[in-house]
Amino acid sequence: MSTERFHQPLTVWFPADLDPHCAGADLHGFFHAETAQVVVLQPGAAVAGSRNLSQSTPRLQARFDEQGWDFQADGWRCDARPYNLDRDLFSRHRGLLNTASMDSCGVIVCGCGSVGSLAALDLARSGVGRFLLVDEDLLSIENLCRHQCGLADVGRRKVDAVADRIRQINPMAVVQVAAMPLEQLDPAVVAAFSDTGTLMLACADSRRADRYAARLAARLRLPFLSIGLWEKAFAGELFYWHPDQPMPCYSCALEGLDQAMPNRPQPQRRFYSTETDLEAQTFQPGLAIDIAHVTQIGLKLALDLLNRNVPTYVPRLLGRLSQYTLICNTNDQRIGGEAAEIFSHPLQVTTSIQVGYANTSRTCPCCA
Ligand SMILES: [Zn+2]
Repeated sequence: MSTERFHQPLTVWFPADLDPHCAGADLHGFFHAETAQVVVLQPGAAVAGSRNLSQSTPRLQARFDEQGWDFQADGWRCDARPYNLDRDLFSRHRGLLNTASMDSCGVIVCGCGSVGSLAALDLARSGVGRFLLVDEDLLSIENLCRHQCGLADVGRRKVDAVADRIRQINPMAVVQVAAMPLEQLDPAVVAAFSDTGTLMLACADSRRADRYAARLAARLRLPFLSIGLWEKAFAGELFYWHPDQPMPCYSCALEGLDQAMPNRPQPQRRFYSTETDLEAQTFQPGLAIDIAHVTQIGLKLALDLLNRNVPTYVPRLLGRLSQYTLICNTNDQRIGGEAAEIFSHPLQVTTSIQVGYANTSRTCPCCA
């Protein structure tokens, strides 16, 4: 195959700050034959699906002299176009987010399933620069209808598949993975990853796991956000906590809530499948579009928590939503069952539910 068949020169997009030492070395990136476009990556950028452009067809060669970069494909001169990730990647955020402070933010994503994979990728798109992905599961065929990764990732660890997707959005992002439940991860690893700009994001499929994440966050003084779906994803719940002012922790708040709403039927079953019902947990039905609606509202809160001390940032929801928020997709009982009656209309987002400290708060290690 030769570049002649494209009837036009190849367009080569390359990093504007490509190191001149790369001339003569192997270049990696993407080649799109149908549009005659080539994207060259910074050396060392481990982006899934990229290939060695210097040893494939067409064979790309680069030269650097006082005129700048010159690229040839199979001996044909290319149209060289520099790009600047630092400048261009988040240029559409101007006036909305501070790119530098977002890049220094870290997020610990506990659970990389339907909620966690969407959360991780949208936070990467928002400019979060550091991720610690925690999940022990492999991606299966049944996951694809509501996960951000695809068929090529089936059989891979979810953390690896999501890490690859993050790097496809931002090759400069720092991504650490832990293929185990958070409970089994050495807290020292979490502590080493964490600083004042780090958020603990609990996206597990059980409250038990989210409780553990909340306790660890409190110990490390990290802001915490839990995004959880109710049965069939007809609704979901958000809970946040941060260390800047006294507020009930996840465990205490939910205990207090159960006491405050004693007439609600079977709260355990309503919030999640029972924790002993593992099969039901594994096969919890729910549509991606319903899961996404709850998750996206949670992510607005995540942005607010990450930027809560950035003077120029305008919070979207923090201060408007209470610590515990319910989000309804549909209040039709044919989907939501009896619990759906607590919502007055579809797409309802509560703003007024107040949570308190449990009676045991004096002995709670988080709230004490
Ligand atoms: Zn507490």
